[in-house]
Amino acid sequence: MMMSMSTSPPPQAPKGTVDFLPPDGDRLQALEDGFTGLARRYGYRRVYTPTIEHTEVFLRLGEATDVVRKEMYTFEDRGGRSLTLRPEATAGIVRSFVEHGLAKRVPLPWKVYSVGQNFRAEAPQKGRYREFRQLDAEAIGDAGPAIDVEVIDLAMEFLRVAEGGELALLVNSMGDGACKPAFVDLFRSYLEGRRTDLCRDCGERIEGNPLRVLDCKNPGCRAVTEDAPRIVDHLCDPCGKHLDAVLTGLDALGWKYRVEPRLVRGLDYYTRTTFEIQSADLDAAQNALGGGGRYDGLVEDLGGDPTPGIGFALGCERILLATAGAVTAAGTGPGQTVQAVVVDVAGGTAALEALSALRKAGVSADGAGWERSMKAQMRSAERLGAVMVVVLGPDEVAQGTAQIKDLRSGEQRAVALSAVADEVKGALR
Ligand code: AMP
Repeated sequence: MMMSMSTSPPPQAPKGTVDFLPPDGDRLQALEDGFTGLARRYGYRRVYTPTIEHTEVFLRLGEATDVVRKEMYTFEDRGGRSLTLRPEATAGIVRSFVEHGLAKRVPLPWKVYSVGQNFRAEAPQKGRYREFRQLDAEAIGDAGPAIDVEVIDLAMEFLRVAEGGELALLVNSMGDGACKPAFVDLFRSYLEGRRTDLCRDCGERIEGNPLRVLDCKNPGCRAVTEDAPRIVDHLCDPCGKHLDAVLTGLDALGWKYRVEPRLVRGLDYYTRTTFEIQSADLDAAQNALGGGGRYDGLVEDLGGDPTPGIGFALGCERILLATAGAVTAAGTGPGQTVQAVVVDVAGGTAALEALSALRKAGVSADGAGWERSMKAQMRSAERLGAVMVVVLGPDEVAQGTAQIKDLRSGEQRAVALSAVADEVKGALR
């Protein structure tokens, strides 16, 4: 058995998945940390929901949705239940909101954020994976336009800092129960008249999901939709006012945007405000860093009382692609794994104690192979990006001292062993 295992080729990560090795793993972590800090500043709190849900949770998003129809990883568990790896975050969060009866138990809006993996069986390409990570924020229980502005502002502010490049904010309204169905009918009959000009996929979309035709990249379909009726011209009065108020709010906060009547996002639950944020640093095929919108019917679809909601999801891999090579925040960034290295040529336990004292004092510190030569350890210290090196030689340790060296200036001095952590910390300040 063992023999045959060793002759088979070594296993590889599944198609469409990515290993984030350092320093990319550190860049990903920095994104998550940055998002966490900002979301909390906006009054959002952390929610964790399962990566698997009953398949039904996603089926309720609308079976005409491409993500639901074609891209879900669905399987039967050992008890014969149908489970699905979540393709997006909102459905699970709304399911938890309903399941725990939060509408009556917490002040609304319930403002939460989460960070985690999603799974879609898509054709993998640059910026499009089968397992990918999203930064997600949701505000459930507020119908007013101000919360739309807040949510968009949070996404834009995060990307402004994290992405650093040129961003395009696209805004649209999908209407509501009063005006969306009539518009969809109008749009459908327009498409019926041009059916022969559409690609096969779009022909099939006319019946169940005609607005998705707006998303098709096929030049023939694009030509058809150029002249199609525009939803922003067919909004009911309350939806029109809501959109105006959102745009006024964005103006007040100084965000530049473009109203894009062609913007339909992949998930069908959106009502009223929808938005997408694109990066000029990415190719058109995968330039969406994230997007979101209002889902005023979703809580009800998942079995709750009618409750409005809005949220967004930003794609971590896309942001990393757009910022490839960019320098992350100061501190223990990707290029610098530790601040201090303890170099030991004395033997005994002094190095262990010094390392432990440094770490307890809040300094990121490491050893660099204490059984090796001093020269080899010094080289490793540089490779680890250390700023300070603590050198323990036999003579120093015998006298209860250590040498500390600042690699920036080359300055070196002797300090008491018991003061190593304080001295290094002081020098790093
Ligand atoms: P969505 O959940 O489809 O609204 O997507 C929101 C954001 O998640 C997109 O703008 C992308 O940045 C990211 N995203 C969606 N699908 C994928 C995928 N298959 N691979 C990588 N990122 C994705």
